[in-house]
Amino acid sequence: MTFAELGLAPAVLKAVVEQGYETPTPIQAQAIPVILGGQDVLGAAQTGTGKTAAFTLPILTRLAAHANTSSSPARHPVRALILTPTRELADQVYESVKTYGKHLPLRSHVVFGGVDMNAQIPALRAGTELLVATPGRLLDHIQQKTINLSMVEMLVLDEADRMLDMGFILDIRKIISMLTNRKQTLLFSATFSPEIKKLAADFLTEPVVIEV
Ligand code: AMP
Repeated sequence: MTFAELGLAPAVLKAVVEQGYETPTPIQAQAIPVILGGQDVLGAAQTGTGKTAAFTLPILTRLAAHANTSSSPARHPVRALILTPTRELADQVYESVKTYGKHLPLRSHVVFGGVDMNAQIPALRAGTELLVATPGRLLDHIQQKTINLSMVEMLVLDEADRMLDMGFILDIRKIISMLTNRKQTLLFSATFSPEIKKLAADFLTEPVVIEV
């Protein structure tokens, strides 16, 4: 299996090649075609398996199909939302998004707590197709109406077990309830505890289970 066979957008493939990646990792080989096909995924994967690229590359490919260079914020609603438990992970995922998406005319941003909320507002107001966020700060922005998530099609819950351990379950459920246009959900977790299985049962539709 090579990256060229996975069906990624040429601009995304170019970025992967520039990173020096030669072969997809097992979770990438399994998850990328499934995500490109629009199916939900329940993935068991630890950090270090290449899971970030496993969901970022196909999401960027799907967003690329509708990329546009308009400057109007209204033309850049959030279409993909990636939730992570911590600011460190949010930042890492955002760096991956920027690296793999550098040849695409897409806007992406990251919001997390512990920094001035007002500083995050202009970027959100300018419009962003892809948003990486921690749940608490995202809810703050939703409540302040500085972000609108009604056009989100793709949702990723990254390190869902850690988000539950950190007490984010109600925040997550609240956020998901606002994603009225949600079509595809990807849930990644190091473990499949009963709580994770409950979350998956509530929010995933016939997910493809991938364990590496
Ligand atoms: P992750 O599991 O997403 O935290 O990724 C672990 C590390 O593996 C990151 O530093 C990536 O840059 C790197 N990586 C991801 N996919 C590949 C690949 N197919 N080949 C080589 N390195 C990769």
